[in-house]
Amino acid sequence: MEKLKYERPVINRIQSGLPDKFGAKFVLEAKTEIEGHLVKDLLAEYGSPVYVLSEIVIRDTYRELLQAFSTRYQKVQMAWSYKTNYLDAVCRIFHQEGSWAEVVSWFEYEKALSNDVDPRNIIFNGPYKTAEELKSAIQKGSLIHVDHFDELYQIIQLSKELPEKARLAIRINMNTGIYPQWERFGFNYENGEAWNAVNRIMNTENVELVGLHTHIGTYIMSVSAYSVAAAKLADLAVRTERKYSHKIRYIDMGGGFATRNTLKGAYLPGTDTCPTFDDYAEAITGALLNSEIKPEDMPLLILETGRALIDDAGYLLGSVVANKRMASGQRGMIINIGVNHLFTSFWYEHTIIPGVPVNDDSEDTQICGPLCMNIDIIRQAVRFPLLQPGDPVVIERIGAYNMTQWLQFITYRPKIVLLGSDGEVYVIRENESLETFKAQESVPDYLKCV
Ligand SMILES: *Cc1c(COP(=O)(O)O)cnc(C)c1O
Repeated sequence: MEKLKYERPVINRIQSGLPDKFGAKFVLEAKTEIEGHLVKDLLAEYGSPVYVLSEIVIRDTYRELLQAFSTRYQKVQMAWSYKTNYLDAVCRIFHQEGSWAEVVSWFEYEKALSNDVDPRNIIFNGPYKTAEELKSAIQKGSLIHVDHFDELYQIIQLSKELPEKARLAIRINMNTGIYPQWERFGFNYENGEAWNAVNRIMNTENVELVGLHTHIGTYIMSVSAYSVAAAKLADLAVRTERKYSHKIRYIDMGGGFATRNTLKGAYLPGTDTCPTFDDYAEAITGALLNSEIKPEDMPLLILETGRALIDDAGYLLGSVVANKRMASGQRGMIINIGVNHLFTSFWYEHTIIPGVPVNDDSEDTQICGPLCMNIDIIRQAVRFPLLQPGDPVVIERIGAYNMTQWLQFITYRPKIVLLGSDGEVYVIRENESLETFKAQESVPDYLKCV
C-alpha cells in the first residue's frame, strides 16, 4: 500500500460573536473626552493620530506607588526608567516628583543631564558602555551598574588613571521561581558569579561597591518573585558586611511591575490580574525587613519602575479609515494607527474604544492599521460596534514604550500633547514632516540632476 501523504494539522479560530446564554448583546461605552478635552477637538486641533499624555495620571500613579513603599519602608528612592518614555516633559514631571534617572545608554545619559538631573543621581545601566562613557560617568560621580566582568575590568583599569573613586553596583540575575529566567544581564547569583564580582570589587582600590541591583524581568505578575529577589540581594549585602565590614548603601529592585494592559494569550483581562502596588511593596519590603540586615544598616531601596508608572497616562487617538468585509466573512476595520505607532500591540491586546457614541450592535472585527504590511494588526478579533470612516477611536494605556520604540516606517510620527494639570494642552513633541527627513539626508552632487 502506498504511504499516505502527510497533512499538517490546522487550528481554526472559533469566531466570537455567536450568542451566549445571555444573547449577543455587548455594550462598549464610548470615550468622547479625556479630562474635559473632547476627543474630536484634540484630533481636529493636533492632527490624527495624536498621542495624549495626562500629567495628573502620571503624578497620581507615582504618588500611589511611592506611598505603598514608603509606608512600609523608611528609605525609598525612585529612579525614572528613561527608555520607558524619555520625552523631556515626562522625565521632568518624574524629576519634579523626586525621581532620579535610570538610563541604559549614553543617549539617555545625555538626555538626563540635559534635564538637569544631578549626575550623582543618574544610574547608568545596560550591557554596553564604552570606555569614554564609563570614564565620563566616573568623573561625574554617577552610579554605574556593572553588567559583566569585561566591563568590570575596564572600570578597574580606568579608575587606576582617574582621581575619582568609581561608585559601582552590580547587576545580578537569579532564579526567582518564574519562567523565563532572565540570564542575559548581570552576574548570576546561584552559580557564585555575583559573589565573585563583589569580592573583586571589594579587593580593588579606587572603586566602591555602593549597591546591589536586579531587574528580574518585565510585566512580572508574580509578587513572590520579588520577595525571592529581595531576599537574595539582602543575603549578599549581609555576606559583604560580614566579610569586609562594608555596608551596602542601596538595594535596587529594578522595574518590571505589571500594568492593567492585557497580554496576548492571557485568559483574563489585565484589569483583573494586575497586582496592586501594595502587593509588590509588601513582598519587597517584607523580604528586606525579614533579612539578617540590622535595622541601623537598612539600605536605601531604589525602584526603577517603568511601565507601571506611565502606561495608564497615555492615550493614542486616531480615526477610522474604512470598513470592509473580508473573504472569511469577518468585518475588517482600518484605522490610521498602525503598529509603527503602537509597538506594544505586538504583545498587548490593547483596549480600543469608539470616540463617538455607538449603539449596542457589535460584530467580530479585525482592526488593522494603515501600513501596507500584513502584520499591521492592532486587534485580531474583537467585538466592536460599526464606526463610520472619519469617526474617532481611542486606544488606552499606551504611555509606556510606544514613544521610544515607535517606528517611522512609511509615514511621519505624529504630535504628542500633554494634558497639563492646569487644564491646558501642551504640544511636547512636534509631528515630523518632510523637512525632518530632508534635514538628516544629503544627496551626492552627481545625483542631483535628473
Ligand atoms: C527597562 C528597565 C526598567 C523598567 O522596566 P519596566 O518593566 O518598564 O518597569 C528598569 N530597570 C532596568 C535596568 C531596565 O532595563
